[in-house]
Amino acid sequence: VTALNPTTLPIENGFPLAAALAEQLGETPLLINDAQAAAWAESRLGAGQGTRAMAFITVSTGIGGGLVIDGRVQTGRQGLAGHIGHVVADPAGPQCGCGRRGCIERLASGTALSVIATERLCRPMTAVDVFNTAAAGEAIAQQIIDKAAQLLGRTIVDCVALLDVDRVVIGGGVGLAPGFLALVRSQIALEPLFYHRPLLAAQLGADAGLIGAALLRHDEKFHQKIVVDD
Ligand SMILES: [Zn+2]
Repeated sequence: VTALNPTTLPIENGFPLAAALAEQLGETPLLINDAQAAAWAESRLGAGQGTRAMAFITVSTGIGGGLVIDGRVQTGRQGLAGHIGHVVADPAGPQCGCGRRGCIERLASGTALSVIATERLCRPMTAVDVFNTAAAGEAIAQQIIDKAAQLLGRTIVDCVALLDVDRVVIGGGVGLAPGFLALVRSQIALEPLFYHRPLLAAQLGADAGLIGAALLRHDEKFHQKIVVDD
């Protein structure tokens, strides 16, 4: 296992997690990214039911994502499919932990809101503080949230352009923070009609990843093929 952004998932590169778990559990584990697993859960039991193609995006400490297309959760060659957090939203933006510059995760995640607000308001601010302060009428905090919603809306439209998903499901503490989804919707509404898709709140909460992994563990059609080397 390797973390794309070691600052959100501190794990040693190439750590043999499957082997370590197999030794502890006495059973071969299924390894899947948490957002991909959550995407599967939402598509089967939550806000993505009935879609042919859906994208799930969790806006939390980082920004994760998963794609379910034609009844299959997409993992890709190296497990990277759906990692929407590392789509570039501002080429001149700050360096991301993954090595790219200006990833949406670095600009609109909970960690990003905290870093940006701490810098602009000159006092320590968590993502929760940013939302509370904005609700209390602090204009700068509201601007920071508006900017994150604007960038995320644009990234979602990029995702629609690329994959023509039927629906986008949003989860995570920031994604489901009061008023945030409405702000993202209003950004998407500014884009051409062709790119509009229903944007729904995730229904399965913090356990979506666990539920998805459990469903996939018992899904005979699911064969994860993560190729490390050719
Ligand atoms: Zn990145």
